[in-house]
Amino acid sequence: MTYVIAEPCVDVKDGACVDECPVDCIYEGVRSLYIHPDECVDCGACEPVCPQVAIFYEDDLPSEWSGFAQANGDFFAEIGSPGGAAKVGPLPYDASLVALLPPAG
Ligand code: SF4
Ligand code: SF4
Repeated sequence: MTYVIAEPCVDVKDGACVDECPVDCIYEGVRSLYIHPDECVDCGACEPVCPQVAIFYEDDLPSEWSGFAQANGDFFAEIGSPGGAAKVGPLPYDASLVALLPPAG
């Protein structure tokens, strides 16, 4: 189990959660941020600071966003576990679920 970033982050990405994460496991894609499921230590610090209410414990994901648990994991298929988002920087792609969403707003 891990925390998951769901659809309300898409095309918002204000980054408030990144500052709260003690293990720097929130990575940036083109349209959304993603929590690394293996690096997240389930501390919950990011969840209350998200102005979009986009972050959920995996068990508490609203059903309409259940696919985002898989999407957060899929985002890391190619890069594995880098051990910190700051040294990786923004990545030039998204999980396919996010990439295929219509523009928000
Ligand atoms: S739950 Fe904690 S470790 Fe996991 S992404 Fe949020 S702040 Fe980082
Ligand atoms: S705080 Fe919420 S909306 Fe902002 S980047 Fe993090 S998950 Fe996305």
